[in-house]
Amino acid sequence: MEQKNQVTMEKIESLCKRRGFVFPGSEIYGGLSNSWDYGSYGVQLKKNIKDHWWKFFVERRDDMVGLDAAIIMNPKTWESSGHLANFSDPLIECKECNHRSRADQIPGIDVKMKEGGLGLSYSISLEAKCPNCGKSNFSEPSIFNLMMETGIGPVHLGGLYFNAGMFENSGEKDKKREVILKINKAAVYLRPETAQAIFVDFPNIISSTRKKLPFGVAQIGKSFRNEITPGNFIFRTREFEQMEIEYFFNPKKDDWNKLFDELKLSMEEWMVSVGISKEKVHAVEIPDGERAHYSKRTIDFEFEYPFGQKELFGLAYRGNYDLSQHQEFSGKDMSYFDSETNEKVIPHVIEPSLGVDRGLLAILLSSYQEEELGEGDVRIVLKLKPTIAPVQVAVFPLLKNKPELVAKAREIYDALKMEWRAEFDDNGNVGKRYRRQDEIGTPYCITVDFDSLEDGAVTVRDRDTMAQERVKIADLKAYLLDNLNK
Ligand code: ATP
Repeated sequence: MEQKNQVTMEKIESLCKRRGFVFPGSEIYGGLSNSWDYGSYGVQLKKNIKDHWWKFFVERRDDMVGLDAAIIMNPKTWESSGHLANFSDPLIECKECNHRSRADQIPGIDVKMKEGGLGLSYSISLEAKCPNCGKSNFSEPSIFNLMMETGIGPVHLGGLYFNAGMFENSGEKDKKREVILKINKAAVYLRPETAQAIFVDFPNIISSTRKKLPFGVAQIGKSFRNEITPGNFIFRTREFEQMEIEYFFNPKKDDWNKLFDELKLSMEEWMVSVGISKEKVHAVEIPDGERAHYSKRTIDFEFEYPFGQKELFGLAYRGNYDLSQHQEFSGKDMSYFDSETNEKVIPHVIEPSLGVDRGLLAILLSSYQEEELGEGDVRIVLKLKPTIAPVQVAVFPLLKNKPELVAKAREIYDALKMEWRAEFDDNGNVGKRYRRQDEIGTPYCITVDFDSLEDGAVTVRDRDTMAQERVKIADLKAYLLDNLNK
């Protein structure tokens, strides 16, 4: 089969909308810029990616435990971690069209945060152009904090506040009242990363799990950043999901280089196992001076997206910066007693940090193919790994108006769905059903025809080769077990 055109973001977005992987959020109200909702196949694919990551990094290892912490944490967390002071991007505004951009993303602008987040040093060359209007007339860059702020409790962020029980004892119960509450806002933040909770919970984690160093703590969950320039579909959004690990070790005993390389290898193996194209991923070493001051080594795994080579995932050695900061700010002991060395130590960490949505995008881009079938016929197929495909096997009756075929197909579907992600489909003709299943990446389709009622066999069609073979119904489970686990 001949490969056709290259994959583009437009093609991926269109497939995602058509097949219900991802579509614009709150679309009936005109949407909300850069907010995306995952539809039925999208949410399943996303769940499969997360489940696979959890199995790979937590369940099958003895040295990892999990955590699911609250999104809204005590705001002191962010003061201690440095996010309130430093988690910012340099913002620049074009004086011609008022378009706002991240200054560090415009070629020709050199901008650096001063130590401790106290101001910016910058230079703007004549080549620097506004990405919106192409002109070169910029404001001074400023620091823009990415933390998303909200309020909790009986607080009020402006406007009117109604409370049905408010006048219960005043005899005016039935009257509709509007009351403006003048209560000071208790500012809290939606977490900008999942990792900090792992540090904050460290004392509870060691006392409850009794894990010995080195060991890791993994967490999957939503994070929020008030990005200046979100965009490129689900690549950069203000609300996204992360899968993060803090791998704790004793720097006096454990060789951080070795642990770093092992985690790097695991991340690479995981990427291949979910079908992210190895050739499109580049491990970029972040040089001295560009890394956080506490980091001895950081790697960005960059992916060749249609819009350029950009970060997919990260891996960073963070020293013991975070635990030390939390110890200092909370006054609580964040150390670990190493019974082998008889010493207290504040463990160091290596942090593999993966974005679920960026991972899903890289998987879609890696698996999307258009194949020329002759006479201008082109099929679109997602060559997803069977372990993460939203549907692993689809079952069809050859004709939907033949009750005996439908009953047999349903019987097979009911048996298979207990073990695999299965779908029953009787819409349109079989050719159309194959195309639909190809577009959502279903590895196998099973068709029940009239012969099936006689010979107890069905036609199994392979997504990638399009080859069809007859398999006995009694052997179907063994067949799928063999092929779906490849
Ligand atoms: P970038 O340089 O692209 O802004 P980052 O270096 O700030 O990313 P990290 O703080 O290292 O990102 O976050 C870890 C991972 O979380 C990233 O590698 C990415 O996969 C994901 N991620 C970060 N920000 C976003 C976002 N706004 N939208 C979607 N995924 C994100």
